[in-house]
Order: sequence, then structure tokens, then C-alpha cells
Amino acid sequence: MRGGKCWRLYRWYADLGSDPRLAVAQAVSLQRQLPFLYALLLVNSLAIVVTHRHVAPFAISTTVPLCLFTLSSLRLFHWWRRAHRTEQLNAEDARRRLRMITLIGTFLAAAYIIWSIALLGYGDAIQKAHVMIYVTTTAIGCIFCLGALPQAALLVGLIVIPSFIGACLARQDMMYTVIAVNVALVLVVLLHVLFNSFDHFRKQVIAQTRLKRQHDELIRLNHDNERLAHTDSLTGLPNRRRFHDDLAELVASGGAGPFAVGLLDLDRFKPVNDTFGHHVGDILLVQLAERMRPMLSGGTGIYRLGGDEFGVLIPGNVRTATMVGARLCAALEEPFAIGELTVSVGGSLGIAQFPDAGHIATDLFDRADYALYHAKRMQGGGLCIFTPDLESAIRRDRAIEAALQACVFDEELHLYGQPIVGARTGQVEAIELLARWRSPIVGEIAPSDFITIAERSTLIHGITLAMFRKGLAAARLLPSDIALSFNISACDLHSPATLAAIERELFASGVAASRIWIEVTETAVMRDPAAAARVLQRLRRLGMKVALDDFGTGHSSLSNLHQLPLDKVKIDRSFINDLQAQRGWAVVEAMVGLCRALSLECVAEGVQTAEQLETLLRMGCEHMQGFLFTEPLPVALLPDAVRIIGRRAAA
Ligand code: C2E
Ligand code: CA
Ligand code: CA
Repeated sequence: MRGGKCWRLYRWYADLGSDPRLAVAQAVSLQRQLPFLYALLLVNSLAIVVTHRHVAPFAISTTVPLCLFTLSSLRLFHWWRRAHRTEQLNAEDARRRLRMITLIGTFLAAAYIIWSIALLGYGDAIQKAHVMIYVTTTAIGCIFCLGALPQAALLVGLIVIPSFIGACLARQDMMYTVIAVNVALVLVVLLHVLFNSFDHFRKQVIAQTRLKRQHDELIRLNHDNERLAHTDSLTGLPNRRRFHDDLAELVASGGAGPFAVGLLDLDRFKPVNDTFGHHVGDILLVQLAERMRPMLSGGTGIYRLGGDEFGVLIPGNVRTATMVGARLCAALEEPFAIGELTVSVGGSLGIAQFPDAGHIATDLFDRADYALYHAKRMQGGGLCIFTPDLESAIRRDRAIEAALQACVFDEELHLYGQPIVGARTGQVEAIELLARWRSPIVGEIAPSDFITIAERSTLIHGITLAMFRKGLAAARLLPSDIALSFNISACDLHSPATLAAIERELFASGVAASRIWIEVTETAVMRDPAAAARVLQRLRRLGMKVALDDFGTGHSSLSNLHQLPLDKVKIDRSFINDLQAQRGWAVVEAMVGLCRALSLECVAEGVQTAEQLETLLRMGCEHMQGFLFTEPLPVALLPDAVRIIGRRAAA
């Protein structure tokens, strides 16, 4: 039992300072207490020297205290300096310091008690009583100051109490004995109280340590959350939120210099995703991010905004932005190798330069977006820098959009029609219905302009339906063997409500579905070929014919054409324009051949000369449309035009 206690006591001393956080807390607390300990020791001891200077021998009254005072003063100075220094203690230093305090404390306790006991042999009763008071108060004070280091306090107690009791008992005087026992009891109780309060101190340190750990963990989690909230999980690039934060910061520090905002969009990402699956799409995005990362020098940042859309922030002037932009576009043109597959996407990049294109983040973003739109729609991809010309185009587009919003389509839209002629028979086979808009606010606007603007919002659906209503009503004016060809846009293809409304209008009109052709542009179909194919199939099942409009201007390949549920293909008029040139001729011939191979009817658009007609006929293209027959006419004039064209052919 006793052996166990001794072992525990030994371990208690051996483990002194082994708990790093406790050791640091102890050392910090002692740093504040020790100057008081030494000050108390010096003041008390000085008082004893004063009262005993004439009664004790020189060695005891002067030499010994001088040595002890020098040592104590040095320690006082040492701790006083430490107490006023703000230093970060590490655990090892703290441990070393605790051991040193214990060692020096033990040594000084022994030295002072031996000196005190020696003094007890001199002077009268009052001077002896002073020594006893000195020992008691000094021991209490020192043990108290060592509260944060109970090992040292206990050692002081173990040295002082037995020595003092021994010295008093040796006097064989009742008074001494009673006082010694009394003092010893007080010191034992004090030590006991001190251990209790140290236990409390230790628990507090443990609790604080745990609290600190939890706090650190919370901060770390917060950092992680913050980082994740600003990072795109797929590519590891900073995300849309980060893009807007950084853009706002750049704008706020506008004086720091010019920079450009870029918006980048992949051109054929959706078909890749749909054809090869999302997994391949994801790999492509990761590869793309890897490809772009090394290009980010000079503080350029690239961000994934979502889907196949990326943001770029380029410090520097417009020349730098153009250079970086061109490099990014070139990188996009390179095909991607994904397993066995080789995939090409390409991309468009719109750039707006600060401060020329705008002083606030939303303006810069909108203008980069507009430049992107322009790159995509008007340039067919690549880089477009926002310019004042685009600015006026924006203003004009906004005015048109506002007028469209206010437009009552049934009243302001006018129906024009242009015949599609069977070139061999010379008879009109169909009428392509084309919209004309005379706005009371912005005047006459070309369809290519207002249709494009309407397609950016849901306004296009209203236009499509108004055209259908008017076209179906006009059907009554025309011979029943003449078909009506309607243009529908990409947005209509993806609007079930519009498609349902078209069906309703058709059935309500009583016009045979077989008289209806639906023209859908190649680019509209290519945006999402799978979805487009489903819708076109549905229209064909209802009895309508489907024509692929503006063929040659989009990105469809032979295999795409083969997979689409089509009846006709309309060769874009730009190719007919080029017919006279050797290359143009070859291209059109290849297109006509392709249609024949796929058993699709081929319509040539924009036929303006008899020469073009002859060439096309020789190639085997028998259906034509163009100014050669007539320009688009108001519907009321169409019955006459049909008759005239028919008569001209018969003649
Ligand atoms: P599109 O579908 O390719 O229509 C044919 C366009 O070519 C018409 O332009 C027509 O006037 C023009 N055109 C016809 N023959 C010739 C020719 O021999 N030479 C030349 N240079 N041009 C010729 P328009 O009416 O200005 O329409 C432009 C485009 O606007 C249309 O191109 C079509 O994409 C769109 N559009 C027109 N009306 C509608 C509509 O009701 N709905 C939709 N979604 N789009 C429409
Ligand atoms: Ca058309
Ligand atoms: Ca066309």
C-alpha cells in the first residue's frame, strides 16, 4: 500500500510538466506569482536581519543573509522581467522552467530554514518569537505563491515543517512545542487547500484546452466550408460565387488598373453530353480545366460558372485580354482524347474591358455576355470583344425588345408568303410564311432582327402562335394542294406548351396536317439533336412534314442528318449565291447528292437567276424558292402570284 503511494508520489514528480498545455498554463501563472514570492521572502528576511543584527554572530546576521539575499534578488529580478515580457511559451520551455523552479525552490527553502533555525538560538523571547513568526508567514506566503506548482509547494512544506518542528522540539519547551505543532497544522491544511485548488486549476486548463480544440476545429471547418463554397467540385476551379466576389473586388479597387471580364461557353458540349453520356462530359470539363490552368499567368483567373460556362478575369489592357482570349479559344479548338474517343467542342468567348465597357460589375458582366452572344450567333464561335458598336446594337435591341413586349402580335404582325416552286413543273408547291412587323414605336424591323431578339425570351412563342393562326386562316385563300411552310425556332422546339398550342390551332382550323410543313433551322436542331428528334417525330406522326432550314450553316454532319426524322432539306441561300464559283458548285452538288442518298426532298433557297435554276436542275434539285419566282408577298396577293407563276410555267 505504502509502496504504491510512494510510486505514485515518484511518478507525480517524474511527470512534472509532461502535460504540455498544463505545463504552459502553470508556467504562465507562476510567472505572475514568483516576483511576489521573492519580494515577500526578501522583505520578511530583511526584517529579521534588522532585529537580529546585534544579537547574532556576524556570519549568521550578515554573511549568510547577504548570500541568500543576492541569490533571491537575482531571482526576483529574473521573474520580474519575465512577468513583464509577452512571450509565447512552448511546452518544452515550460516543462524545463517548472523543474527549475522546483529545484531552486527546494534549495532556497532548505537554505532559509537552516538560517532561521540558526537564528532561533539568539536574542530574547521577542526576537525568538519574531523568528517563529518569520518562518510561519514566509512559509505560508511562499507555499501560497507556489499554488500553480504543488510539487514545489509540497517540497517546501516537507523541508520547512519537519525542520521547524524538530528545532522547536529540541528546545524542550512547552511554548515552542505548541507553536511548532500549531504552525505545522496550519501549513498542512494550507497544503491541502492548495492541492484542491490546483486540481480545480488543472480541470479548468483541461476544459479550456478542449474548448480551444473545439474552437480550432470549428474555425478549420469554417475555412473548409468557405473554400468548398467557392470551389467547383468537378474541376477544382473557383466557382460562380467566387467569380462574382472577385469581380466586385476588382471593380471596387478600380484605381488598381484596367482588367477584362470574359465569359466563355463551349459550342458543342450538349451533344457530347447527350451522345456519349454525362461521364464523358465531366471528363471533358476536367480536361478543359487542366488545359486552361497553365495559361493563367499574370493574375488571370478562370472560374467555372456552371454547366459548360466559364468566367475569366484578365488583368491588363484590351491587348492583353485579346491575347489571352485568343489563346483560350485556340486551346478549345484542340480535340480532347477521352479513352477511345476524340471529341471536338470549340467555344465562344465574349470580353468586356473595364472601364471602357462599364464601371460596375453587372454592366461588365452583361456586356461580356452580349459579346459572347455575338460571338456565338453572329461569328459562329471564337472571340468577340465588346465595342461601342455593340453598345449601340444593345441599345437598339433593348428598344426592339421593349417594343416587342408591348406588341399585340395578332395586330402588329403581318403575314407574308414566298412560294416554293417545283422547278420541273413550274407549279407552286408550298408557301413559306414569313413574319413582318411594323411597330408603332420602333417602326419596321427586319424579321432576322426581331426574331433573334424574341428568341432570347419567351416572346418568340407568342410570335410563332400568331403566325400559325394567321397562316392557317390564310390557307383558305389558297388551293388545297398548296402546302404552308411555317418557321419555328429552337425555343419552340423545347416548349411543350407552344407545341400543344400549335396542335390545337391546327385541329381547330380544319386544315389538313399534311398541308403543313415545319421549318426548323439546322443550328436549332444541333443545340440538342436528341430532344429535337423527339419533337420532330411527334410532328411527323401528326401528319406534318419537317424541313431542315438553312442547311449548311450549322454543324450537322452526315450522321446527324441521317438520325433526324426529316422530310426535306433547305439548302441555305449563301450556297446558291456561290453556285457560279467552282467550290460553291461542288458543295451544292454534294448537298443535293446527300439528300438523294437519304431520300430527302431538297429545296434550294435564294434562287435569283435562270442560270442558277438550270444548274440546280441539272444537279437534281427540283424544288426552289427565291426572287426568281417572286419576293415574299402579303398574303392577300398570294393567290394571284400562285396563278401567275403557274401560267408562266405553262407558257
Ligand atoms: P429564312 O427562313 O431562311 O427565310 C427566307 C429568307 O430569305 C426570307 O427573309 C426571304 O425574304 C429571303 N429570301 C427569299 N428569297 C431570296 C432571294 O432570292 N435572295 C435573297 N437575298 N433573299 C431571299 P426574311 O423574310 O427577311 O426572313 C429572314 C429570316 O427570319 C428567315 O429566314 C427566318 O429565319 C426568320 N423568320 C421570318 N419569319 C419568321 C417566323 O414567322 N418565325 C420564325 N421563327 N422565323 C422567321
Ligand atoms: Ca425558313
Ligand atoms: Ca432558310
